[in-house]
Amino acid sequence: MSCKGCGSVGKLTVARMAASFWRSLTKGTVTDAVFDARQRVCSVCPARVMIDRVAYCSMCRCPATPGFAIRFKNTLRGWVCPSRDDSIRRAFEEASKAG
Ligand code: SF4
Repeated sequence: MSCKGCGSVGKLTVARMAASFWRSLTKGTVTDAVFDARQRVCSVCPARVMIDRVAYCSMCRCPATPGFAIRFKNTLRGWVCPSRDDSIRRAFEEASKAG
């Protein structure tokens, strides 16, 4: 099992997930334009789930706690869309290039 979003490979353990998410955290943050573009892609994605009025990505294996909300992940330069749907993943990649 793996998490494409965090870049973790192999069996996901709490330690491995924490390490891979830490790597995403250390790559810096995106511009406001990239954040807005990513948010637009996620807002219409079928993998987006709402829990207690907070949006999470159901394709990712991260826990549904506020620290892993889409709104936060989309600020991270190292975060990539884990969708298996090519069109969604490409749209997210394009959004990540927004000026
Ligand atoms: S699969 Fe990609 S586009 Fe969909 S909610 Fe997750 S990060 Fe956003």
